[in-house]
Amino acid sequence: MSVEVTPIRLIMFSSEDCVYCPPIEMIVREVVGSGMQEMVHVSTIDVDDDPEAKKQYNVMALPTLVINDEIVLEGGMDDDSVREILWSTLLNQAVSSEEAVSQTKKSLLSFTMNIMDSLNGTRVIRPSVGDYTHIGDFQLNLLSLYSLDPLIPHLLYKAGYQLGLYGVIHHSLTLLHPKIGKTAKPNLKFKHLAYSLQLFFSDREILPTLLAKSAVITELTPTKITILIEELASASLRINVGENMCDFIAGQLAGVTEAVMGVKAGCRELTCLANNSDYCTFEIGIGEDAIERLLPPLENKDERAARRQNFYEVIHETTEIISDSLLMRKILRSNIGDFMHISVFQPIIISLKLLDKFSSSILYSGGRELGVFGPGKPLLYKLVKEKGVDVPLNLSEGVELLYEYLSHPTYHLGRNHGLVRLHRNNDNYMLEVEENSSISGMGVANMNKTFCDFQAGFFAGRLHILIGKDPTVKEIECQGMGSKNCKFLIKVNE
Ligand SMILES: [Zn+2]
Ligand SMILES: [Zn+2]
Repeated sequence: MSVEVTPIRLIMFSSEDCVYCPPIEMIVREVVGSGMQEMVHVSTIDVDDDPEAKKQYNVMALPTLVINDEIVLEGGMDDDSVREILWSTLLNQAVSSEEAVSQTKKSLLSFTMNIMDSLNGTRVIRPSVGDYTHIGDFQLNLLSLYSLDPLIPHLLYKAGYQLGLYGVIHHSLTLLHPKIGKTAKPNLKFKHLAYSLQLFFSDREILPTLLAKSAVITELTPTKITILIEELASASLRINVGENMCDFIAGQLAGVTEAVMGVKAGCRELTCLANNSDYCTFEIGIGEDAIERLLPPLENKDERAARRQNFYEVIHETTEIISDSLLMRKILRSNIGDFMHISVFQPIIISLKLLDKFSSSILYSGGRELGVFGPGKPLLYKLVKEKGVDVPLNLSEGVELLYEYLSHPTYHLGRNHGLVRLHRNNDNYMLEVEENSSISGMGVANMNKTFCDFQAGFFAGRLHILIGKDPTVKEIECQGMGSKNCKFLIKVNE
């Protein structure tokens, strides 16, 4: 099922005496080198050697960066802005790749069948730990992804949109409300769609995902649906994050509306539980009311740093909230409880991985942030103390301790994954993880790639705390490619 994807062409114009060129070239190499080598073809042209090309691309300043024939950068610039420009342009190019979409479509169909089996009780996907995981883990994953870059919400919207357009929800909506497919009249169809969406977030009989408590349609016109959702899993931390957290859902709503109605659709989240509101509300528009999702404006260095800091603080604040919920001291979602079906979480990972070649490094970085800054550190230090050792540990001790941490009963309350095993062979260490929530059950789709980059990054982050160095953790086998368990190889590059 592997599909050839046309590489993105990046050309950098420079010259020998250009002082801005070497640092910018370094950043280009670094960004492209972080998992995008297959996707981006980089060439460097010295304008003194090739004046023809200089003329053809209308190069006025040095360096000039051209991505797929469009100039995206001219002249010297600070590192952060260069990074930002590269990320945003490359992300956008990759997300719109048509070929990736066709592969995703097939995979998501398998995913749908798989999840339906689990939801209607035909088959349990994770026999040891069950198919419901704690929303705390889910939200921490989202928060650490959001913290990376203001472009992430945009990327999640796009991923959700593709998923809605091709996959899972459409099938669910028809199952919940068969009338949706039985009329050709647009107005009536739109009404049925609104009703089925309400069921999608409220139903607990046919599709017990526990994605949300309930939903009501608060406005319905021939081109607009406004839907209010209570206790939506992606934003139920009861913490004011300061921005909306449900971009993936918004994207899915836009995508599925477009799939059902056959006209352009868009969606925006008007109020969010994570942003000082009691509910999440979404406005879906079609045709001339299709709200287009635009790239966020570039932020300056200080704004980015402040945003990042805010997310660290939120992640820090969640520690107690989540442990209270796990120990049943205080429930976050008083009506439906804090566990949800793995099908709420899996599509985010799967659609990101299938639609976007950069997502491996994004997910890994997100996992690493959570590993370094996220909750659970007291348990880590407690285990260190019990051993009578001091940090930094050597790699062997560090990996051993990480293994004990991952096998600790309190760590398992969230049911994020099943049993963990540690294998060692001379100086090589490998963690084997059973029933990882992000991908369990997807082996049937045989997608021929690994999916647990977030987990790998998390292991790397936790190890960083223990050994004081940055290890590389690479997933070498994954349930998503048909392997029995996920396996992670751990190394330290000296
Ligand atoms: Zn929300
Ligand atoms: Zn995996």
